[in-house]
Amino acid sequence: MKTAQVENDKIVIKEIDDIKLDDKKGAIVKVLGCGLCGSDIVKFKHKIVKNGAVLGHEIVAEIIEINSNTNFKIGDKIVTSHHIPCGECNYCRHGNVSMCEHFKKTNIFPGGFSELVYVSEEHLENVAYIIPNNISEEEISFYEPLGCCIRAIKRCNLLKNDNILVVGLGSIGLLMSEGLKALGYNVYGCDLIPERISLANKMGIQAFNSKNLEEFSTIIKDKTNDYGVDAVFMTSGADKAIDVALATIRQGGKILVFSSTPLSNGYPNNEIYYKELTVLGSYSPSPADLKDSYELITSKKVNLKNLTTIYPLDKIQEAFDDTITNKIFKAYIKITNQT
Ligand SMILES: [Zn+2]
Ligand SMILES: [Zn+2]
Repeated sequence: MKTAQVENDKIVIKEIDDIKLDDKKGAIVKVLGCGLCGSDIVKFKHKIVKNGAVLGHEIVAEIIEINSNTNFKIGDKIVTSHHIPCGECNYCRHGNVSMCEHFKKTNIFPGGFSELVYVSEEHLENVAYIIPNNISEEEISFYEPLGCCIRAIKRCNLLKNDNILVVGLGSIGLLMSEGLKALGYNVYGCDLIPERISLANKMGIQAFNSKNLEEFSTIIKDKTNDYGVDAVFMTSGADKAIDVALATIRQGGKILVFSSTPLSNGYPNNEIYYKELTVLGSYSPSPADLKDSYELITSKKVNLKNLTTIYPLDKIQEAFDDTITNKIFKAYIKITNQT
């Protein structure tokens, strides 16, 4: 089978032996395609993974071999995520599922950018779903990333019609905005890249350039009765994005951190204290968040149409490069066709 592996500063296609189910529980799936996640880019760019690693986890696949107590069967087209919490440890009991040891240990094998993948029984039981016929592969490939967004939104405990600012309108910022809109919030967005701002506007998000911060914060104040927004979602990894958040958040508001920043600058203590701000992070979704994501996508409550650019597996390097240079929003690596 073909896999795309990290090799120094390249992604190379390697032919390896087909993986087999043998006597394991679970399924072997033929990967139809796999979304390229921002976290794959970070792992590749900052050399967080070893040579030989197969990246990718946002898989859309077809079951070709199965030994399972679930109702899935050969020929089913499924979507799945990669991590499963234990549900019992101290982290899980407090709802911090993405910190759970078991969550971090569980994964699909060898990784999504591969013709064949092993999906465990635990995956099938907890985080795998059948793809309805009226949903495209590219749309359902947002199942896991949208799950991440839904978790972030839930963590903020917002009120209906709250004013929200999404800082950064790359694919994850647009996805976050779609999730926020679908769940009943009033969304504004900002970025520095004109193409992103115009796509956001086309998607019905009131988006602005935040280059002139004073001007931008005045716009936000005008739109929110002088309060500022109730929550800021930080999907941008730029250090300056923190200034944008502090200039637009209302007193008592929430800043949801959804991206790392190069300098790992902190939020100023006194702003948090005097304005009674809440700064909180959100990382990876629970099975319940993923279920919500599946329902939003399959009921077509989110618009995911303009985000994806498709690349064949052989051109995966180009997909990485184009994502890194912001040439595209989101790459979907097409790996095999349905039987
Ligand atoms: Zn992802
Ligand atoms: Zn746990």
